[in-house]
Amino acid sequence: MEVSPPKARLFVTQSLSKGVTVMLGKEQSHYLLQVMRLKEGASVALFNGRDGEWWGRLSEAGKKSASIEPVQQMRAQQAEPDIWLCFAPIKHGRIDFLVQKAVELGASHLQPVETKRTIVSRVNLDRLQANAVEAAEQSERLSVPEVAPMVKLNTLLAEWPAERLLIIADETGGGLPPHALLPELIGQKLAVLIGPEGGFAPGELQQISGLKSVRRMSLGPRILRADTAALAALSCVQALCGDWRDGVPSFRGEESGEDDGE
Ligand code: SAM
Repeated sequence: MEVSPPKARLFVTQSLSKGVTVMLGKEQSHYLLQVMRLKEGASVALFNGRDGEWWGRLSEAGKKSASIEPVQQMRAQQAEPDIWLCFAPIKHGRIDFLVQKAVELGASHLQPVETKRTIVSRVNLDRLQANAVEAAEQSERLSVPEVAPMVKLNTLLAEWPAERLLIIADETGGGLPPHALLPELIGQKLAVLIGPEGGFAPGELQQISGLKSVRRMSLGPRILRADTAALAALSCVQALCGDWRDGVPSFRGEESGEDDGE
């Protein structure tokens, strides 16, 4: 192997190809040089959502700015399940947690939705997007989902893409259990919609059901908090019609089969 296993993994926006140096910004340089205390020549993994994962070597252009020279492409870019998470935003700390976990669970797009009972009037997109990047780096994803600006429910429905099936997490008992609904949706463009802490207001569920491509899904007999419901719904989707059906993480498939000699 031309380059050793990486000590850090970073999302970059620049294109990645062999030998084409990637200059890092102040924050990422600080993270590698001061926080991780990596030295010249240290191995760092890069991904940009287009060119797969590259391992490269760190070179310091001075105490404050670092650059990476990509050496070897370790993974080609792969298609990931196309699952949007549409959610009524919840309070500060929990929305950060929700975004991080949704990224780990493979959501391809995060869409905050203002419903009648949504208690949060605005979301800090920069902070949420930074959470998404960090979660993608940590979970070894090859892409980072966008956290889109919040829209009102009416707008979301008016502009809904016809080819995408909307799955409403319906706590009122009107939904099918995941095992009965999801297996027939393999390969489809999907979205999960989670209501606010106070649930969907009367008429909202009917309004949403007015869409041509919509299904209602139950998440069992208990009332889940909105963040729990979002993660439970995404987990069911990945398990029954997403990429959890493919077994071990593809990038570690060869390692996981290794006999550890015990
Ligand atoms: N309406 C609930 C109540 O009166 O306690 C609260 C809503 S719940 C906290 C927030 C959202 O999570 C719901 O709108 C729904 O989308 C989802 N959810 C919670 N429990 C669920 C369940 N058992 N089945 C389906 N969705 C659920």
